[in-house]
Amino acid sequence: MSVIARFAPSPTGKLHVGNVRTALLNWLYVREQGGEFILRIDDTDLDRSTREYEEGIQTDLSWLGLNWDRSFNQSHKFEIYDAAADKLRKMGLLYACYDTPEELDRQRKLLSLQKKPPVYDRSALELTDAQKKAYEEEGRKPHWRFKLSGDIVSWTDMVRGEQSIQTASLSDPVLIRGDGSYLYTLPSVVDDIDAKITHVIRGEDHVTNSGAQIEIFRALSDHLPTFAHTPLLVGKDGKGLSKRLGSLSIQQLREDGLEPMAVNSLLAKIGTSDPVEIRDNLAQLSSEFSFDKIGRAPARFDEDELNLLNAKLLHETEYAEVKDRLEALGVGGGEDFWNLIRANISKLGDAASWSVMAFAPMAGQIEPEDAEYCALAADALPDKVTDETWSTWTAFLKETTGRKGKGLFMPLRLALTGRARGPEMNKMLAVLGAEKARARLKGLRA
Ligand code: GLU
Repeated sequence: MSVIARFAPSPTGKLHVGNVRTALLNWLYVREQGGEFILRIDDTDLDRSTREYEEGIQTDLSWLGLNWDRSFNQSHKFEIYDAAADKLRKMGLLYACYDTPEELDRQRKLLSLQKKPPVYDRSALELTDAQKKAYEEEGRKPHWRFKLSGDIVSWTDMVRGEQSIQTASLSDPVLIRGDGSYLYTLPSVVDDIDAKITHVIRGEDHVTNSGAQIEIFRALSDHLPTFAHTPLLVGKDGKGLSKRLGSLSIQQLREDGLEPMAVNSLLAKIGTSDPVEIRDNLAQLSSEFSFDKIGRAPARFDEDELNLLNAKLLHETEYAEVKDRLEALGVGGGEDFWNLIRANISKLGDAASWSVMAFAPMAGQIEPEDAEYCALAADALPDKVTDETWSTWTAFLKETTGRKGKGLFMPLRLALTGRARGPEMNKMLAVLGAEKARARLKGLRA
């Protein structure tokens, strides 16, 4: 049996690191197993779903390299949901309820006063046809609930192990709203049956849903996928990410200049028994993926760790892989310049400021007490500068001035680059060339 899994976002907002982790885990498992990865757009909520968010989801997944084998929209499939709802009605498993939100609220408050769990009392099951007719004549539109068995539903979860949900402790879930629109629960099951999904891999906020959904699967077909519910992401402080998800959208990370493989590496490894390390391709992450490695504790998402992974990735990135993007950033100097600066950047965009420093006119930074020393250094610089020049030149300056260590090197670095830290100076000097270096050492813009 070949694996078929799906990522099922609702296009009612931007993808953030939390839901992309679910997409990634699905993708890694499918690719490791040689199966099929489906992108299902859960757009049954026609008021809140937008085409723009849907396109955003596609852009984000493509940017991360999480390609899908096929994709479909739930909004094109209302017929099969209607058929499934009819089937459940005929089986006596989907019943009409006429309670208003206010009435339901009152019921819940009453239960809470009696210290009882807020479980729907199923009074709608007792309604006679005449009572239903009276409600309808009043203008009330029914919403529809699925009748849970009241039994214990059990499954073996690929992350959580043996799971049991006591359905008697749950309210019968509403599957269809009063306006006829579907909540997520039924369409998801119908599509998982229709697409022959073998594995439902999603966040553990869906564990309770799974109890009800398994009963719907059983009512509608013989097909039941295997479930894997992964712990949710938290911040490095251990707190939930919900308040910060705006700044943790994939679009934002992309705009901040992060590399997709830094995002993928972090999201694939946190919360697992593997060390968090950078990988430069998804195939490797996929070959290392296993549900057995996913722990039960929440996975900590730390932006600092993401930035470190990003830097590490860039430090090892070959010129050919970033050539086009460097050109788009206006970074000149070709492969040699990239190899010179890459260890000094943490985002690709940082390359631009090194390029400006090296190739655009700039006056170096010269402290008054170093002006004389720098002028001397300028005069001592040979006309032809190579990678070797720095060591002979500074050896000469050391001997002539008696300066050493920081006092010897730092004024030169500041005068030549304007910064106290940066690429290796022997190479930097060669990139600048004698003329530019001399001018900057004399405090001129060059
Ligand atoms: N649209 C649902 C969600 O985003 C899908 C959940 C599922 O994977 O079944 O929560």
